[in-house]
Amino acid sequence: MEQLVVEQGAILPDLNAHGTEEQLELYALGRLPGSGQVRLEEHLLVCAACRDKLNEIGDFALAMRAAGKQLMADSRRASAARGKRGRAIFPVV
Ligand SMILES: [Zn+2]
Repeated sequence: MEQLVVEQGAILPDLNAHGTEEQLELYALGRLPGSGQVRLEEHLLVCAACRDKLNEIGDFALAMRAAGKQLMADSRRASAARGKRGRAIFPVV
């Protein structure tokens, strides 16, 4: 019965909609748009293969993010050094 297939699909959300490497990378970086993030998170709950992939990509993404933070910190420090010391409040990361 075709209808039964549809109902199963509704019960198991996106079980077959694996995240692409790009999606997983964006997700690991926290840059996946809201709706895509929710969908991917739901998929990750039911898909060990994508979780493994995310772990692999996550290591890389974390390194990239750390590098990005460092760059941002450097530029903040540079602008702070331009004469507004004591005024800037930096969140401690
Ligand atoms: Zn998957």
